[in-house]
Amino acid sequence: MKVTINPTTCIASGNCSRTAPKVFANREEDGGFVSILDESPPESEWAAVREAEDLCPSATIRVEEDET
Ligand code: SF4
Repeated sequence: MKVTINPTTCIASGNCSRTAPKVFANREEDGGFVSILDESPPESEWAAVREAEDLCPSATIRVEEDET
């Protein structure tokens, strides 16, 4: 799994870091906008990452599933 974000569309809702805190962060010093902690998360995080992608209100998170 490969995770990318579009920093121009994030609206700093914080859903992603609440759902997958090992993969996404919404830091105060970044204005609450998303940053990625792990672009190639381990399988144990995949369900949370997919949920974060679904919950993102601005379709900022992109998940590529081609990696095993
Ligand atoms: S859920 Fe989407 S809009 Fe909200 S902080 Fe995360 S990337 Fe940004």
